[in-house]
Amino acid sequence: MSKFLFVSDLDHTFVGDDAALIELQTHLSHHRTNYGTKIVYATGRSPVLYRQLKAEKSPIDPDALVTSVGTEIYPHDASDTPDKEWSEILSHGWNRDIIVSTLDQFSQLAPQPDSEQRPFKVSYYLSETAAATVVPQIESALAEQGLSVKLVYSGGQDLDVLPIKGNKGLAMQFLARRWGFSSDRTVACGDSGNDIALFSVGDERGIIVGNARPELVAWHQSQSSNHVYRAKAHYAAGILEGLKYFGFI
Ligand SMILES: [Mg+2]
Repeated sequence: MSKFLFVSDLDHTFVGDDAALIELQTHLSHHRTNYGTKIVYATGRSPVLYRQLKAEKSPIDPDALVTSVGTEIYPHDASDTPDKEWSEILSHGWNRDIIVSTLDQFSQLAPQPDSEQRPFKVSYYLSETAAATVVPQIESALAEQGLSVKLVYSGGQDLDVLPIKGNKGLAMQFLARRWGFSSDRTVACGDSGNDIALFSVGDERGIIVGNARPELVAWHQSQSSNHVYRAKAHYAAGILEGLKYFGFI
């Protein structure tokens, strides 16, 4: 056994089956203590909503916390200071004010709460029925403003506007470089559209939990890559299944 970099989404991936989560966390803690494995949570939640989840579910302390769909990296989960090097990378070509004023014209969009509006993330609610037609219109409107940003629609309700380099996958690779983990010793776990970046950014190992949402399943079916494993089991049990499949545990 040797160390690996474990990166996981939280909602409906790491969290969702309390009994399986206890078993998974036992394996991860053991690996961290004995081999130097690093544990990273990569969530769409803001730091505020992460702390809510932490209070409810008491997940083990991560070695770094990636919040707000990859746009903020914290050295530990009680820190209020995002990693400056990562923020600098994201700041290129990003203009929050122009994005907000451009998207004001779309009546189908409802802004998410203030806690979810972040320096490098602008977030709305958008219904699944409207998304198919509205998302391309938003893309055109932002391109007309000369902005090169990215739209991520996930969970059947969340629309995030992000810097080009702001996603969970690139944040994962940033940490892997910093800590010296190769792609075959890095594994990412997820269940929804905002996790696709974890699986598509390179050839890091990937685990799609059995309860994955349709947008992630459709993406996986369109791929021929064999570095991503689709588990049968749900939530943390699916992660355990995948970690065993790849021989990490
Ligand atoms: Mg999720």
